[in-house]
Amino acid sequence: MGIVSFTFDDFPYSAAVGAADILDAHGIKGTFYLSPGLINRIIPGIEDKPSTHAEIMKVTNKGHEIGFHSRKHLRLNELGYFDVAKQMFQGSQIKKYTGRKAVSFSYPFGCTYPKRFDMIARLLGYKTTRGIDFGVNKVSDRYDLNAVAIYEHKISLKIIEALLKSLKPDEWMILYTHDVRDNFSKYGCSEFFFKQIVEMVVESQMEILALEDVVHPKKDL
Ligand SMILES: [Zn+2]
Repeated sequence: MGIVSFTFDDFPYSAAVGAADILDAHGIKGTFYLSPGLINRIIPGIEDKPSTHAEIMKVTNKGHEIGFHSRKHLRLNELGYFDVAKQMFQGSQIKKYTGRKAVSFSYPFGCTYPKRFDMIARLLGYKTTRGIDFGVNKVSDRYDLNAVAIYEHKISLKIIEALLKSLKPDEWMILYTHDVRDNFSKYGCSEFFFKQIVEMVVESQMEILALEDVVHPKKDL
């Protein structure tokens, strides 16, 4: 059985509130990548209602995974090694919300230079890194993972359906988006669109897992 993951970058308010509820209704755990520099701030071009401590705790308490999306959401490829490492170093930034360190990292703006950035990610203890290159992965892949954007103006349900149908048992499709709301940005989608995708994935019988659960499968007790 193939694996599908739902992920969100930047922790937009509407993802934390509306989209998380849609996942909850199906018992699905998503991965929400948080950049502390964006907390309590309007995310330019994405959403003008900021996520606060309350939204982060809501998502955390529902059992979703909180990944790290760098400290200040800068373009890492414009920085030197030392500053890249500083941006990727999470300290207690995630632990203070969830009680444990994030093991999943996504690159801001999808800026990936796999050779050097993934080396830093491994050294910092991340078990996976995700970019925004279009494609699916092998279930055994861990770094510089490909993804499929749920950007409503760019992708159709038919494409998602075709990708799902062609997903092999050893393959892993990581979906990602930002805001999920009626007046969605060009990096997001509507709740209706998102809901249709969730239902399609549920019906596909694929395994649906947060990234940390792909890396460390939960054992049945
Ligand atoms: Zn981002």
